[in-house]
Amino acid sequence: MSNANPAQSPVSAPRIVRVVLDVPLDQWFDYLNPGLPVLPGNRVVVPFAGRQLVAIVMAVTEDTEVPASKLKAILQVFDDVPLDAATLKLLRFCADYYHYPFGQTVLSALPLRLRQTKPATARKQWAYRLTTAVHDDALDKRQRVLARVIAALKMQSECSEAQLNTLSGSWRKAIAPLLANGVIIRREVVAVRPSMPASAEIPALNAEQAQAVTAILAQRQQFQPWLLFGVTGSGKTEVYIRLLEAILAEPQAQVLVMVPEINLTPQLESRFRSRLSQFTLVTLHSHLSESERLQHWQAAQSGAAQIVIGTRLSIFTPMPHLRLMILDEEHDSSYKQQDGMRYHARDVALVRAKQLQIPIVLGSATPSLESWYNATLDAAPANATAKKAAYGLLRLTRRAVAEAQLPQITCIDTVQMPAEGGLTPWLKQAIEHRLQRGEQSLLFINRRGYAPVLHCSACQWVADCHRCSAKIVLHLRQRVLRCHHCGEEQKIPVQCPSCGNPDLRPVGQATQRIEETLQQLYPQARVARVDRDTIQAKDALTEVLSAVHAGEIDILVGTQMLAKGHDFPNLTLVGVLDTDGALYSPDYRASERLFAQLMQVAGRAGRGEKAGEVLIQTAFPQHPLFAALRTQDYETYANTLLQERIVLQFPPAAYVAVFKAEAQEYALVEQFLKALVEAARHFIMQEVAQFTQLPTVYDAVRPGLARLNRMERGYVMLQCQHRGSLQLLLRAAVAWARHHPLQSKIRWVLDVDAYDV
Ligand code: ADP
Ligand code: ZN
Ligand code: ZN
Repeated sequence: MSNANPAQSPVSAPRIVRVVLDVPLDQWFDYLNPGLPVLPGNRVVVPFAGRQLVAIVMAVTEDTEVPASKLKAILQVFDDVPLDAATLKLLRFCADYYHYPFGQTVLSALPLRLRQTKPATARKQWAYRLTTAVHDDALDKRQRVLARVIAALKMQSECSEAQLNTLSGSWRKAIAPLLANGVIIRREVVAVRPSMPASAEIPALNAEQAQAVTAILAQRQQFQPWLLFGVTGSGKTEVYIRLLEAILAEPQAQVLVMVPEINLTPQLESRFRSRLSQFTLVTLHSHLSESERLQHWQAAQSGAAQIVIGTRLSIFTPMPHLRLMILDEEHDSSYKQQDGMRYHARDVALVRAKQLQIPIVLGSATPSLESWYNATLDAAPANATAKKAAYGLLRLTRRAVAEAQLPQITCIDTVQMPAEGGLTPWLKQAIEHRLQRGEQSLLFINRRGYAPVLHCSACQWVADCHRCSAKIVLHLRQRVLRCHHCGEEQKIPVQCPSCGNPDLRPVGQATQRIEETLQQLYPQARVARVDRDTIQAKDALTEVLSAVHAGEIDILVGTQMLAKGHDFPNLTLVGVLDTDGALYSPDYRASERLFAQLMQVAGRAGRGEKAGEVLIQTAFPQHPLFAALRTQDYETYANTLLQERIVLQFPPAAYVAVFKAEAQEYALVEQFLKALVEAARHFIMQEVAQFTQLPTVYDAVRPGLARLNRMERGYVMLQCQHRGSLQLLLRAAVAWARHHPLQSKIRWVLDVDAYDV
């Protein structure tokens, strides 16, 4: 691009291109257009600080305040489809609301391939199918991956690479011989469209389901949030399917279906594929290759994909004909992004639905208190000026399949009946019964590793992480102590570093130790463990779960990774070990989360014809949480929690934002945060008239995890009943922080609607 001289550029075309970049500066940058065809939303390459960066064009114009001598020219324009105005409007809202630089907001919403300074071309995608029947006995026992691929191909007639990726990471290698001899063939596809018509049976809707579908469709042309509240198995997914059928019957319509975690996608995806086979469906999640992600994203952007199923990031996918959004498991905390721009996908989805004037359905068996509040109380937080649409509440009160009974839930009082090696005699007996009957058990403990503490009984020393203010967890199998916050690993000391005592003991229970105890107690039982240590490869979870389905596992031990969405008909016992920590946690969301989690784990028991039993070991059997759980009474418990939140002025009864800061010395953090508190309070006093409600600025404090990865941490909480008033304060506070002299010595972030500190 040598003709960067403004004098030579054509007079007719606007000469100035305003762009945003992936840099932490909240501004637009002007460049000269040397005569290239450029439109707003286009992706271009520009020189910036000695590098070449991808930029998105926000405007093309004639004027600039940049002196001509300083203007540089754009280097290249890519011919992919420009980002549309609606998507940019949503991103603009998010950048403002979460106080995150707009350029970074825009660029981080794009697939990686579109953030690179080269043309974005997707690798060819293939769909695979069988040409002849393959009998299972033709397969060697060692060909487990191949067997799984073949089972999937038999069920679905055609599978995309994305689907096969969820089965195993080594499927390509496994099928190579069959691809070579033509037993499996493949064809190139843009977005996979299963060729076979639906084989699944279509149930007639029950009255509640029919009512839900009718109510939502009656208001399909306007913004309306709906809370679809129904226990697992009550038929929510069936409602989603009917809504999609109705909405997609119109020409040019798209639906976005969001799920909290990728582990949940395969089930939903295969159900949608078999029931909605006439529509083009793509998925967007972290298990896709970058090439697949680009291709799926572009299929959504062009309107070719009518159904998009995705995790939280998919909320920013351009969909020109979006008519409906569905968030399944809307209460799940995975919808909250915890770094970069800390958005909540549910809140962004609500904004998007409002901007587009379309309905949005939030589905859950244990709704978030935010949604419950909006669906059951008429008034938004006192004095809200912004008119808030109340949500429609739709209930599904029964399990759709008659035989599937709710499990019986009992607490085992660990004060009366202490646990040995983590297990009470009662629970052990229940496990033994299952082993005798050939049924499966699941033991849920929310802590991975062997034991949470390594302890010296002589001097009370306990092993700590050197980088964090936290205990370091013993992982006996890997022979290390590992910090669950920063990942630091230490050798297991042979003697107490403090007093020399060689008798160091593990204290407390975690998954590895429970697994070991079970193996000692029941040598014949086949025990499997599911936690982040065992499930590192992306297909490892699928492998364990299919082993459970195949009846190859008797006892499953695991963390909350197990709690969700899996159906095991032969699993009749769920044991819950040691969740008492969450009952009296300082984190005000802990009990809400625990309740949802336990409802979900409890839902794993008795999913087939056999009745399920749930045994919870606790020192607090009288706690109202367990009382509510026993009767599966979410409503009463939610209302109790909501009253507490209203009294304490915590969300959803008020809005909170948290300024978090960290540095190698706490003194710097403290100095910065104290100055922030003072400046914020001063701003409120000075601008009193501008506030509808006066926000509260709390003093700077240290979080429970005061040191993380060698950084000393502190935070300031800002709270207000009125969202706009809080935003007013936040804008001022962010502007203050960005210009504070200490800002280069510390790291700070603002977490709006923070989930934790
Ligand atoms: P959820 O999404 O609430 O967990 P699903 O939609 O998956 O519930 O329904 C649970 C089971 O009940 C599924 O096997 C589904 O096919 C079946 N089902 C759903 N609705 C009906 C209905 N109206 N009649 C019979 N079976 C139904
Ligand atoms: Zn000691
Ligand atoms: Zn650590």
